[in-house]
This record gives sequence, structure tokens and C-alpha cells, in this order.
Amino acid sequence: MNAYQPRAAEHAFVLFDVLRAHERIAELPALAEHADTGLLTQVIEEAGKFVGEVIAPLNREGDEVGAQWNAGAVTMPPGFRDAYQAFWQAGWPSLASATEDGGQGLPTVVEAVLHEMLNAANHGWTMAPGLLHGAYECLRHHASDELKARYLEKLASGEWLATMCLTEPHAGSDLGLVRTKAVPLADGRYALTGTKIFISGGEHDLADNIVHLVLARLPDAPPGPKGLSLFLVPKFEDDGNRSAVHCERIEEKMGIHGSPTCVMRFDEAAASLVGEPGKGLNAMFVMMNAARLLVGLQGVGLLDAAWQKAHAYAQERRQMRAPGTTSKAGEADPIALHPAIQRILGTQRAWIDAGRVIAYRTALELDTQKHHPDAARREAAARWCSLVTPVLKSAWTEQAFSGASACLQVFGGHGYVREWGIEQHVRDARVAMIYEGTNEIQAIDLLVRKTLPDGAAALQALLADLTSDLAALPEAAATRGALARFGDFVRERVVPMAGGSAERPFWLADDFLRATALLLMAWAWERLAATAGHGAQARAAFWRWVWPEFEMRLAMMDATLVS
Ligand SMILES: Cc1cc2nc3c(=O)[nH]c(=O)nc-3n(C[C@H](O)[C@H](O)[C@H](O)COP(=O)(O)OP(=O)(O)OC[C@H]3O[C@@H](n4cnc5c(N)ncnc54)[C@H](O)[C@@H]3O)c2cc1C
Repeated sequence: MNAYQPRAAEHAFVLFDVLRAHERIAELPALAEHADTGLLTQVIEEAGKFVGEVIAPLNREGDEVGAQWNAGAVTMPPGFRDAYQAFWQAGWPSLASATEDGGQGLPTVVEAVLHEMLNAANHGWTMAPGLLHGAYECLRHHASDELKARYLEKLASGEWLATMCLTEPHAGSDLGLVRTKAVPLADGRYALTGTKIFISGGEHDLADNIVHLVLARLPDAPPGPKGLSLFLVPKFEDDGNRSAVHCERIEEKMGIHGSPTCVMRFDEAAASLVGEPGKGLNAMFVMMNAARLLVGLQGVGLLDAAWQKAHAYAQERRQMRAPGTTSKAGEADPIALHPAIQRILGTQRAWIDAGRVIAYRTALELDTQKHHPDAARREAAARWCSLVTPVLKSAWTEQAFSGASACLQVFGGHGYVREWGIEQHVRDARVAMIYEGTNEIQAIDLLVRKTLPDGAAALQALLADLTSDLAALPEAAATRGALARFGDFVRERVVPMAGGSAERPFWLADDFLRATALLLMAWAWERLAATAGHGAQARAAFWRWVWPEFEMRLAMMDATLVS
């Protein structure tokens, strides 16, 4: 069984050769001092070393032993706590936190690379620090100075961990149904009562404290999402006393056994309000958007981990003669030479490489949106993040699952048994299609919330940005043509025929997201092709076996529009 190994050079290639990240970072006064390919490459190489040596080796045992619950306490699998302590003490969680909070102030994209590697190496372990940066950003933007003074540095450094407590038994996608109550106390705090379910890292022994960010309702709050406020409940108060929040049990589940998925009971737990009453979802969105990019990267990383395993196996395993080979009679060829296996591996590689380009570009746009001196550039960056994040989250998590299953196929029966560890990737990857907003909710977000209300103006501007990005590449004419065709289709068919209908946009949403994903992939493959040194095999796989789905999605939308 071979464990995933980060390949720092591949990540650096996408960042610097394809995306020219250093040039983009140099345009941002707040980050310009880090626009140094030598420094950034060194951070990525060190990240790869840490992930490969410390985190990847814990993956298998994390799956087999899993997190264990006993009388409210959760013990993490062997090695998990030590790895976490080493992780935060080495400064990895603080890469992109502000220097005034004790962070290193590096560009977001460096953290994105780290998280892709971490998720590929050990999805279960990475669930715990996965929400940390989002929680830090949420408090940084919305908490009072007093709360910031108590919590910000501990979260920036990763000495303490955080949770996002949204889901309740009857309130999943529909957070407007949340019932957890917050009653004002005499000391200015609130007594929080309610049960949250599916809380990742709600209880564990990785860090000395856990900061819960909880959506709840004040007594006079209106029903629905507008009545939600955000509260902070620490596992331990400043005086070392435990808050009245208990882990009732952890779920038995399909994958990510190394991550405790907790049922958390709040029994009049003393809580502090974060931000304004009734603005809880706004505050939470800071956390959720960061989390959605990371889940998209999870998709890319998990697929890469499965691909690495399958690719290595295909070189070793010999079965039958491959067409066109000259091996002697009676000898079998490596299965890597069979076209069917090349198709599986090439297709996944096409998704991984394009997904990485799109995800890193999104991370660069997040910083551009915050720091670029030119308002028009900030606006274009905000548009990219808003439209591309749901596409990345949805399409690449779906591919991580179906692609991991295709990689399992490369092993034949040996993939179905546990020995090679490929079946763990299939089980682990499945959940990413569900959490952080199910993939169906992402599709609705893209079409119904973000495209139709402005008559698709933002989407058309994104298509124009992608087209002009390819303007100097004569060989990208077909992709520019496809971008123009999609623009026409949206203007002439989707907006007029779906805009006025209550139901149609919801029937269309999944195909619309998928078509957008394929266009983004085509753009990414043009950028990769224009950069010397990239694999021709995966490029050919994209055009032969992935891209034709674009036509199919247009046809499906057409059929829905006329029905
Ligand atoms: C392992 C794991 C970890 C998690 N971690 C956390 C965490 O840390 N914090 C937290 O708060 N939550 C967490 N969750 C919860 C997760 O975010 C929810 O499971 C998710 O939001 C979906 O809610 P639900 O499970 O209640 O499904 P439901 O909302 O009941 O949805 C059921 C199905 O209906 C579909 N559906 C629902 N509404 C619509 C609609 N309007 N249009 C189209 N389709 C719709 C969904 O897409 C889904 O397919 C976690 C879940 C899991 C499994």
C-alpha cells in the first residue's frame, strides 16, 4: 500500500508558470512583499515535507481505529494529537492569518496549496483544522474587541480549534428552521439551549480548547433565517471551568472515521454574541465561503490521492497483452498499457489538473478582492469568487467520488478489498458532496441566487473575462467559441425562458452548473496547454472524454426549457 506523497513541483508549476501568481500578488500592496517565487516555493516544499512525513502516515490507522467516544470525551486515533501539536507549533495554521494577530500574513493561495495536500493525505485528520481559518476570519470581521482579545490569537495560531455549529436534526439545508435558543443573562451574555448534530470536531483531544460558533435564536427573533444570531461558546472558559456543552455521541459513518462527527447538547451554556443580533447568517457566510473553497480543494486533493495510488498500481500489475505492444508470447503487459486503463487515469488527471488551476485562481481572486487598489479589479475578483466557488465545490467533489471509484476499478478485485487502501478514498470522498451546502444547493446558489436576478450580467462578465484571458492564444479559438455560445444560450434561452418561471430554474440548475464547470475546465486546459511542460496525455483525455459532456448539458437544458 503506497501512501499519498505531495509533489511540490506540480503545485508550484500551476501557481507560478500557469497562473503567474507572483505577478498577481505583486499588484497587492498588502501582500507585495511576499511576491517572491523562491520564498513561496520554499513554503510549498516544506508544507509537502510535513504533510508527507507527519500527516499521510496516519491516514490508514485513522480510518481503522477511528475517533472513539467515551462518557462525553473523544479520543482521536493514534498519533493524531501529536501531529496536531506539531502542526500548530510549526506555524502551519497561521500561514494566511494577519501579522497583527500573530499570523504570517502570506497570500491565501499558499494556505490553499497546504489544504489540498492535507486533504489528499488524510481527510479525517484535516477536518479539524479545516474550519479554523474560516472561524478566525469570522471573528476578525464580526466579533467585539473584547472577544477578539480573548480568542483571535489562539485561533490564528491554531493553538485552539473551532467548530461551526449550524445543523440541527430538523434543520439541514434549511437553516431558517434552527431552534436553538439564546436567552439574555444579567452579565450581558446569553444562555444557549439546544441540540446541534453532525458537528465536525465538536469534541476531541487534539487541542486544549475548542471554540464553538453557534447559530441560535433570541427570544424575540422573527422566524426564518433573519431571526438567526451567531454566538461563541468555548469548551473551557478563561477560568478553566467547562461550559455547559456536551458531546452526546459521535456518528458511525461511511468514511472520514478519523473525524468525530458529534451530537452537541447546549444546556444553558454561557455564550457571547458575535456581531449584531439577527445577522448570524451574514457572519457565518464569511466562514462558509472560505470553507467552500477548501471543500472544492478537498475534491481536487482526494482525487489526486486516488489517482496516485491507481497510477502506481497500473505500472506494476500485469494482465493480458495490450494492443500494439511487442511483448513475447506468454508475457503479460502492465495494465497501464491498456487503453481502458489509460482512459480512466487520463480522465481523472484532466479533472485534477484543471481543478487545481481553477482553485488556485479562486484563492488569488480572494486576495485580489480584498487588497487590489483598483475598484474594478476588486469587483471582477468578487464576481469570480461568487460564481466560481459553488462550481468548484460541487463539480470537483462529485468528481472526487466518481473518480475515486474509477481509480478503484484500476485495481480490479484488489481495489474492493482493503489491502490497497483505495476503497477508503471512495468512502471518504462521498461526504464532500453533502456538507458545506449540498451540491444541489450549490447549483441553486449559482443559477437562482447569483445568475438570474441580474439577468446574468455577472455571469456574462465572467465569460468575457475568460474569453479575453485567452485572446492571445490562437489555438484557443474553439474554447472562445464555446464561451460565446454559452453566453448566447444564457441570454437567448435561459434568462427569458427560466427567469419568469417559478420552477424551471430549479430543474435547470444542476445542468447549468455542470456546463459552467466544463467551460472553466476548457479555459484551464487552454492555460495549461499554453504553458510549456505540461502533460499532453491528460490534455488529450480532457478533449476526448470530458469536454463532449458540454454539448450534452446544453441539450439537457434545452429539453428542460421547452418542456
Ligand atoms: C460528516 C459530516 C460532517 C458535517 N459537519 C458539519 C459541521 O461541522 N457543522 C454543521 O453545522 N453541519 C455539518 N454537517 C451537516 C451538513 O452540512 C448537512 O448534512 C447538509 O447541510 C445537508 O443537510 P441534511 O443532511 O439535513 O440534508 P437535507 O437538507 O435534509 O437534504 C436532503 C436532500 O434534499 C436536498 N435538498 C434540500 N433542500 C433542497 C432544495 N431547496 N433544493 C434542492 N434540493 C434540496 C439536499 O440536496 C439533499 O440531497 C456535516 C454533515 C456530515 C455528514
